[in-house]
Amino acid sequence: MVSVYYDLHIHTALSPCANDDMTPNDIVRMALLNGLDMIAVTDHNTFDNAESVVKAAKSVHAQSGKELIVLPGIEVSTAEEVHVLCLFRDIESALKFEAELFPYFSGLSNRIHIFGNQIIYDENDRVTGELERMLIAPASISFDNLYLLVNKHKGAFIPAHIERNSFSLLSNLGFLPPHLDINTLEVSQKSTSNSFYEKNKEIYSKNKIVFSSDAHQLWTISERENFLLLPERNSGAAIDYLR
Ligand SMILES: [Zn+2]
Ligand SMILES: [Zn+2]
Repeated sequence: MVSVYYDLHIHTALSPCANDDMTPNDIVRMALLNGLDMIAVTDHNTFDNAESVVKAAKSVHAQSGKELIVLPGIEVSTAEEVHVLCLFRDIESALKFEAELFPYFSGLSNRIHIFGNQIIYDENDRVTGELERMLIAPASISFDNLYLLVNKHKGAFIPAHIERNSFSLLSNLGFLPPHLDINTLEVSQKSTSNSFYEKNKEIYSKNKIVFSSDAHQLWTISERENFLLLPERNSGAAIDYLR
């Protein structure tokens, strides 16, 4: 088994609330500088920068010999306004999933002066456009139907920052739906030592818990602190473990 140090919740500049310097290459280089082996790109309700980060990691690997595994992901806001990380083993499965999710996305346009800009980068950090669609608006898909869709495409379904008082499974639904076979939950890095653990020992004993940064700025990307024990160091092994 190998220890794979990770941060599975990172926003690029495409998320309206993230800094503009969250570019594909800067994210990859910062993650490597922090000693990470694997990251997931998880913009709000879009994959449009995920492939650029995957490609940037490949070219950094070719140039420097340093390998970073990048899982294409998305942070979906469900109809109940629960945030869920949906992670995939490769960009092909991510895009097939997105094609089925697309009709559920809001048709509203972004308001840059209120929410911030939504920048699309290529793998060389060149701006190729801005996304018009309002990414911060929730999708109209229910939590249960999102679970089914992620499983159909063999992805990992991870309710995000479950300890938070808003946009989380526990704050908005209030419980872990017993009819769904959810294996992994995310707890934010900073709350690991607070009373949340004491109050939720049952969740910790029954589920796999991952701790990620929810980084919107380069300096908040995780250090080499949390790892998955995997049979192999690749994206497929990670997704198989998490789902
Ligand atoms: Zn969130
Ligand atoms: Zn997030």
